[in-house]
Amino acid sequence: MTINVLSYASHSATDSLKPFKFERRDPRPNDVVIDILFCGICHSDIHSARSEWGEANYPLVPGHEIVGRVCATGDKVVKHKVGDMVGVGCLVDSCHHCQSCNEGLEQYCDNGFTATYNSEDKIGGTPELFTMGGYSDKITVDERFVLHIPEGLDPAATAPLLCAGITTYSPLKHWGVSVGHKVGIIGLGGLGHMGVKFAHAMGAFVVMITTSPEKGMDAKKLGADEVLLSTDGVAMEAARNSFDFLLNTIPVGHNVDPYIALLKRDATMVIVGAVESLTQVNGAQFIFRRRHMAGSLIGGLPETQEMLDFCGKHNIVCDIEEIKIQDVNEAYDRTVKSDVKYRFVIDMGSLKDS
Ligand code: NAP
Ligand code: ZN
Repeated sequence: MTINVLSYASHSATDSLKPFKFERRDPRPNDVVIDILFCGICHSDIHSARSEWGEANYPLVPGHEIVGRVCATGDKVVKHKVGDMVGVGCLVDSCHHCQSCNEGLEQYCDNGFTATYNSEDKIGGTPELFTMGGYSDKITVDERFVLHIPEGLDPAATAPLLCAGITTYSPLKHWGVSVGHKVGIIGLGGLGHMGVKFAHAMGAFVVMITTSPEKGMDAKKLGADEVLLSTDGVAMEAARNSFDFLLNTIPVGHNVDPYIALLKRDATMVIVGAVESLTQVNGAQFIFRRRHMAGSLIGGLPETQEMLDFCGKHNIVCDIEEIKIQDVNEAYDRTVKSDVKYRFVIDMGSLKDS
């Protein structure tokens, strides 16, 4: 037996997303089945649906910012019960025995994690052989990859925490951002706006570094203390050597030198956006001030739950534009133009009208 699922899928790099029906597995002993209520639109969904990160496996159902209610459980499930509000992020499986998995860093699984979509489904999920994401009405997931959503958080505005939230929370924690640090968040999109909120909540002095002058006022409302326009050469020059930490969410390859120049001696810039070649990096920028550049991938399951609990405690959610699934293609185009405040979230109830 399988579960019939309604979804929206991409069928080629150039096609728009269209309604698509497929089947998911019935719950195994450790699985939960979730009625999906909301799913965020991450820029990674667009990169994947359009084969910008290598040839995708079509049909591809994107979506890894999933919030919904448990509607069925396998008989060995202990963490969740029918009716619970839960979330699923970018991961649905990993090997569970390598050093990274043992440390709760499943995103760095030495044997390769299984992503929520477009990943070979090693334990068998759908007839299509590849995992299918959250632009759908139901999903079956091993309970170890299902997160508890704290009470009181708006479910739609919580959905993007499952990727945009953890991807910014994790490096800020790992590099010890706290009171007294001057932190720059580069790019005010889905990830960037959460980076601002988290860095502010951790007590840092936060500078929003943006290409869009009109986003300045918003950045301050989100928690930024200052705004630095990266296209303003004079302002960038004046800000040289002043940052303790930079979180760079720019979604494409770019010249990193103007940003590295902003770092103090021994400070670090973490790349989370450009999953591709950076067009220019001058070694002298690192050598003369012992600066660092690093990368970071989402976060493991324990840290994702910690982030959600932190959001529950501090009442932090995402600023979203809620849409119907029928508007997903327009939302993709607007996201690529940096025209979203600050995350599109799809109401999956709209799927039944497809
Ligand atoms: P997004 O909502 O499109 O935001 C990206 C922001 O970057 C834009 O709003 C814009 O902000 C700025 N930007 C865009 N193009 C730029 C350019 N050419 N030069 C300088 N700035 C530019 O995207 P997102 O969903 O936040 O995702 C950002 C990137 O992170 C994507 O590539 C995504 O695939 C990746 N990602 C990585 C991870 C990970 O684990 N590392 C997880 C999720 C997503 P301004 O208007 O303020 O300049
Ligand atoms: Zn994402």
